[in-house]
Amino acid sequence: MIITAALFAAGIVIAGAQTLRPEAFELLDLDYPGLENVRALHNEGEDLQAAYALLDYYRHRTGITTPEIRDISRIKITGQQQKWADDALQHTFFVHKGYQPSFNYGEDIDWRYWPIKDNELRWQLHRHKWFTPMGYAYRVSGDEKYAEEWARQYMDWIRKNPFVKIDKQEYELTSDSVLKADAENARFAWRPLEVSHRLQDQTFQFQLFIDSPAFTPEFLTEFIVNYYRHATHIINNYSKQGNHLLFEAQRMLYAGSFFPEFKEAGKWRKSGVDILNREIHIQVYDDGGQFELDPHYHLACIEIFMKSLLIADLNGFRNEFPEIYTDTVEDMIMFYLNICFPDYTNPCFSDAKITGRKEVLSHLKKWSALFPENKFIRYFATEGKEGTMPDWLSKGFLTSGFFVFRNGWGQDALQMTVKAGPKGEWHCQPDNGTFEMWYNGTNLFPDSGSYVYAGDKEVMEWRNWFRASAHHNTLTVNEKNFDNTESKTLLWQPEGDVQILVTENQSYKNLRHRRTIFFVDQKYFVIVDEATGSMEGWVNLHYQMPRGNVPNSREDMTFYTDFSNGSNFFLRCFGPEGMTMRKEKGWRSTDYMKKEQRMNVSFNIRKEDGTPARFITVIYPKKEAGKTPSLEAKFINGSFNEKGLKIQVRIDGKKKNLGYNL
Ligand code: MG
Repeated sequence: MIITAALFAAGIVIAGAQTLRPEAFELLDLDYPGLENVRALHNEGEDLQAAYALLDYYRHRTGITTPEIRDISRIKITGQQQKWADDALQHTFFVHKGYQPSFNYGEDIDWRYWPIKDNELRWQLHRHKWFTPMGYAYRVSGDEKYAEEWARQYMDWIRKNPFVKIDKQEYELTSDSVLKADAENARFAWRPLEVSHRLQDQTFQFQLFIDSPAFTPEFLTEFIVNYYRHATHIINNYSKQGNHLLFEAQRMLYAGSFFPEFKEAGKWRKSGVDILNREIHIQVYDDGGQFELDPHYHLACIEIFMKSLLIADLNGFRNEFPEIYTDTVEDMIMFYLNICFPDYTNPCFSDAKITGRKEVLSHLKKWSALFPENKFIRYFATEGKEGTMPDWLSKGFLTSGFFVFRNGWGQDALQMTVKAGPKGEWHCQPDNGTFEMWYNGTNLFPDSGSYVYAGDKEVMEWRNWFRASAHHNTLTVNEKNFDNTESKTLLWQPEGDVQILVTENQSYKNLRHRRTIFFVDQKYFVIVDEATGSMEGWVNLHYQMPRGNVPNSREDMTFYTDFSNGSNFFLRCFGPEGMTMRKEKGWRSTDYMKKEQRMNVSFNIRKEDGTPARFITVIYPKKEAGKTPSLEAKFINGSFNEKGLKIQVRIDGKKKNLGYNL
């Protein structure tokens, strides 16, 4: 390995860490305006001098920036980022919010250290999430230790994480343990999603560290060669579909925009633009819902599409995105604002986590700036100070299968968001018919959430618990997961005194679940569940209770809350003779690796002889605690009717007939 005198003179390089990489010049278009000197020196064979000239060019380059770092002189750092930066100096790396405190990766960094066999922990190590905070720390303090350590870790990563591609068969047959270990490691270090993460974030790090003496001309050539490998790896290995593909495309757009000096920059940018323009119509349904049916990924995808528009605006190629693209982004924002609750939290359907108010508001400010004409977005972005409150209440998104009943938009509103849609993609859970319900400041029926994604047996057991159909507010047979998850909407009536949703899912081969939800007088809900088909067994109607005191009674099949915050409900379930009630331990997760215990209850009917199992549940939200008012309900039509339904409820003795005809 050649170590140049200049490097030793600078006194900042660990022996063997950085070498001049002449091939860097082959990757660049040396005819690019501003690179005249670089080209001349390279042509004369003076590559070290050419590298100096190139570094000088980048240190003085203007007019190219990223939405994240528009003005380097105004960089700030949060206490958390400062801690990540300082921890990183000791090789304690912030890898995953779900695994805190962070693990230490050793004095001689072990990039294969995998203390808990959750795939995310191993994958996300390779996102280098602490690098950019180190850049902030460097800019704010001017302390070279951050830049030196970043450059050292950057090179260490390259050296210890070779890209080795062998297919599965070769992998199993090989007796070369080094090759095998490298190939196994490459599955994590070179997964395209992780590569794209680095590709994007290195544009930030480049801006933050470029002025440091640790960013030597030799290092610059290493950076260029490594960056090129990253972009090339993605362009040849784009994920097939889903949010990964979107992330990768958006980050290729960053690469092509931020480094137009690469010969292939135009190709990178075009591939990103083409994929985004194509996928936005595949991954987003015509009603604005993202096809994983996961509110968290929905939000992430809005961000991807938005970032692409912002970097296009900043660097002058907005015209590459047609109007239909921006219209779709606007539809996605409106979808999100409709399904979320008045405190800006999202339903935790599918693999979602809860995104907090502060974060959503910061997104909303950007969205509002991009869509200044949209007075509803402005209303939410300014917390009602400007803009206009939506002039509708209940709203359905029929392609995505999201239905929102509401009687207002304020904190004191009553709102139910129902999920009953198509099959959905990877992050979607088998939960058709489930719902969350907000009343006067609290989410009273929160979803179980997801907790973890994938990993070893223990991790998978937890994942499967949270995904399970039986751990949602819906109907199962023998607690089994659904075989099919393709709900059909039979009726959606979002206006009037009695608003109605009728949705049906062929949950199992021989069992169809029809759920009817009546939103009565904008005050309470009546849910009718009818299970038909030849399947036999215990039909379970599940409700996930909120945390805290939830008294209940088997005598009359009731649950009610006893909260002092003005947000309560009284629930009563009606079924045939012999219906049982069961209480089990349940969980709620609002973030990765975070969970709280609560109660999962079910009402159960033994189904035999092909006879339909039918339940009526009345959920009555109210401010005061306790078991009021009195609730009664019964079927008027004696058996299941394909074409309609008639029931009668009595609230404190007052009769109300409910029904529909298809
Ligand atoms: Mg769920």
